[in-house]
Amino acid sequence: MGSPANLRWRTLNDYRRQQANLAATCGKCRRTAILDINKLIHWFFLQQWNDAIPVVERRLYCVKCRRRPSDLKPTTQAPDHLPFFPRNDMEWRSVIRRLRD
Ligand SMILES: [Zn+2]
Repeated sequence: MGSPANLRWRTLNDYRRQQANLAATCGKCRRTAILDINKLIHWFFLQQWNDAIPVVERRLYCVKCRRRPSDLKPTTQAPDHLPFFPRNDMEWRSVIRRLRD
């Protein structure tokens, strides 16, 4: 991962290209969650959401107080296990089925 200052972090794909995960900090309680970039991209793709960072900010919320994140930035830290992502291929398939119905 290069220096973040020299890169543009405009979309989730920019993060993936740099092999960075996304650190989202809550605007209220300051809890930070590390999101797995590949799962996040897969999730946005399934929902047919745009992956521009301002859109991502509006789609994410704090699991504790449900506020939106005030700060999104790249990180090389390992992702947290978060309840809103499917945990395995079977669960991903069931999400895909649900969205198609
Ligand atoms: Zn919070």
